[in-house]
Amino acid sequence: MGFIEADKMRALDAAPADTVKAAVLADFATYFGDRAKTPTSFVLQRWNNEAYTRGGPVSIAAPGVLTQYGPALREPVGGIHWAGTETSIHWMGFMDGAVRSGERVAKEVLAAL
Ligand SMILES: Cc1cc2nc3c(=O)[nH]c(=O)nc-3n(C[C@H](O)[C@H](O)[C@H](O)COP(=O)(O)OP(=O)(O)OC[C@H]3O[C@@H](n4cnc5c(N)ncnc54)[C@H](O)[C@@H]3O)c2cc1C
Repeated sequence: MGFIEADKMRALDAAPADTVKAAVLADFATYFGDRAKTPTSFVLQRWNNEAYTRGGPVSIAAPGVLTQYGPALREPVGGIHWAGTETSIHWMGFMDGAVRSGERVAKEVLAAL
């Protein structure tokens, strides 16, 4: 798996998928050898063209929002418990935060049962 970032990806925005694939496989071959040019499958995800995130890996809140309203993201509503990286108090927005939030909610639900 690899990412193409910033100007290097912008330069490929209008390129057809085959062109991007060829560039990616050529790059992989630099690191892993010629066998990398013939993968058994290939998935191209153009994160920068996603309507709602536009390539941003982490959602952001305006200054003050999390300190004022952050705890509300973690409060259960009836029987609904909220997991997801955005609810984490550590590494919010990242995989670490996602796992922590899952562990927190698993404990909450077990305690509530
Ligand atoms: C381009 C990009 C690069 C990233 N790079 C990194 C990185 O290098 N390191 C890092 O730590 N993190 C990175 N992240 C962030 C990381 O991917 C997220 O923090 C993590 O995936 C969040 O996990 P999550 O379980 O909270 O949410 P998600 O992974 O978003 O999972 C939510 C799931 O809920 C599903 N869903 C949504 N609505 C419904 C519904 N109504 N019913 C049923 N299912 C639903 C969705 O389909 C999805 O599968 C990156 C993210 C992006 C987009």
